[in-house]
Amino acid sequence: MSETAEAEEVWARIVGAKRQAVQGECPECAGLTPERVVWEDEFWVLSYTDGPAEMAASLLLQTREHTRVGQLDDELASQFGRISNRIVRIVENLPEASYVDVSRYGAHRGHFHVWFFAPFTPGTFAPVNLHTVAGKLANWGGEARA
Ligand SMILES: [Zn+2]
Repeated sequence: MSETAEAEEVWARIVGAKRQAVQGECPECAGLTPERVVWEDEFWVLSYTDGPAEMAASLLLQTREHTRVGQLDDELASQFGRISNRIVRIVENLPEASYVDVSRYGAHRGHFHVWFFAPFTPGTFAPVNLHTVAGKLANWGGEARA
């Protein structure tokens, strides 16, 4: 398989990892199970998801409140920038992950939500240690759950 075709396949799987909408209720609230929470604070919840098989980590950061991309107040937007920067720095420094893609896909689903996809370091197939990610994030506040 060519590098381009491989990249397109991975891209298609990343986009395909979106959650299915649930009829009649907020899909994000309905889909968030406590066992999947990696880290949380008063305003944000970071959970892990069943992402594409090529990923050392597939993480979803979302607001607790019902809001959307483009509608955060300055305080929440500022928090988002700081938390995202920390997540990327933490995960990219782990040996299992080669880099982190930060992405918002799809239609509005109730909450501001952004994906963090970390492909495996070439030649390795170990998932990122979520306990490590949670512990390092909690150094700035919030609660480690993984
Ligand atoms: Zn909700």
